[in-house]
Amino acid sequence: MSPTKYDILKIVQEKGIRFIRLQFTDIYGIPKNVAITAEQLEKALDGELMFDGSSIDGFVRIEESDMYLKPDPSTFIVLPWSDQRYSEARLICDIYTYDGQPFSGCPRGNLKRILAEAKQFGIDEMFVGPEAEFFLFQTREDGTLTTVTHDEAGYFDLAPVDRGENARRDMVLALEQMGFEVEASHHEVAPGQHEIDFKYDSAVRTADKVITFKTVVRKIAKKHGLHATFMPKPVFGIAGSGMHLNISLASQGENIFYDPNTPHQLSDTALYFIGGILKHARAISAITNPLVNSYKRLVSGFEAPVYIAWSFRNRSPLIRIPAKRGPSTRIELRSPDPSANPYLAFAVCLKAGLDGIKNKILPPEPCERNIYHMAEEERKALGIGDLPASLGEALKELERDEVIREALGKHIFERYMEGKRLEWNTYRMQVHDWELKEYLIKY
Ligand code: GLN
Ligand code: MG
Ligand code: MG
Ligand code: MG
Repeated sequence: MSPTKYDILKIVQEKGIRFIRLQFTDIYGIPKNVAITAEQLEKALDGELMFDGSSIDGFVRIEESDMYLKPDPSTFIVLPWSDQRYSEARLICDIYTYDGQPFSGCPRGNLKRILAEAKQFGIDEMFVGPEAEFFLFQTREDGTLTTVTHDEAGYFDLAPVDRGENARRDMVLALEQMGFEVEASHHEVAPGQHEIDFKYDSAVRTADKVITFKTVVRKIAKKHGLHATFMPKPVFGIAGSGMHLNISLASQGENIFYDPNTPHQLSDTALYFIGGILKHARAISAITNPLVNSYKRLVSGFEAPVYIAWSFRNRSPLIRIPAKRGPSTRIELRSPDPSANPYLAFAVCLKAGLDGIKNKILPPEPCERNIYHMAEEERKALGIGDLPASLGEALKELERDEVIREALGKHIFERYMEGKRLEWNTYRMQVHDWELKEYLIKY
């Protein structure tokens, strides 16, 4: 149950909380916050606190910069790492314009807009369970970063006790203190790579949790002298970090992906949802895989998807259907990586799925073979396309896809494209080490 304004004011007073961080996320997925003192909290909870939006990347122009932060009381958390001298709490906010309208550049508000669209189809909830992977790297004495992993001990060695495993245990404890239900936490395939899975929740709450999760992981890593990164492919030649999304839809408390009367026990709605995601997969990538570096993960050989297909068993396609049925029936979308803005990522996935439902888009037959091992002609014959190979390619797809553009709205779409085109072009002009090694002598 969400605490009321008075509950929050009471907790703040009882615990002697001095500062409250009002958080929101910019369109590139970067968390921002404004710290206020306890004295200002009541005003903030009434949505009367203004801030200057022009200083936030991709937000607004100077002349329209006055924005309101409206805290969502259900997101109130006392931060477990508060300083000894005073404690801190946080609230996640929606952004409103000067004249009291939801600001179209607010990713959280935008996700709510697409969820409201889903209501028109009788869908009450989109549930998302993320599986975020990350690396823990050593830092130097002077605090600078490296890509050296701590677990030289090797995967199965018990002693000496691994610093990464200790850090991960502390992360799980801190997350639990903050109300997360951690379902699994384990070492991943690559050295220094970890995964922590928390219980699925409705889309906005999960997106909030993804942002909080990343902050917690980085904070605790730092306490252990490590650097946690959600960069999708930090080291060449080993696995990258993904953030698989387990998605289901509910109507009147029922999972509407489940239908016990079909061969695979998937409903038509589930099939159409899959059809919609596959249809828009290339444009979706620009949001779920937002960095130049994201596309270095989407290559064959590291359990990351490259081809646009779905499957019940295989782990190479874009969408896998985990075996669980009944209330746990879900699809696992395997392309997203943890650098994505979760609010935007969920919005584009939902919109694509709704397009599938609305237009009854059936997916092709599921593909149970390892697509990595298929010849190109064979893939073509089966109608299996591929995901974009670069951020530049993905941005072109996004530009062409009306449905996915609409999932972002004009404001976010335009600012996002502007920022990402600059990122892509800056990268494109660099001369990389690989080129020097390859060409400098030869030519
Ligand atoms: N690290 C893989 C990826 O990039 C996923 C590995 C796994 O969880 N099976 O998506
Ligand atoms: Mg997993
Ligand atoms: Mg994993
Ligand atoms: Mg998975």
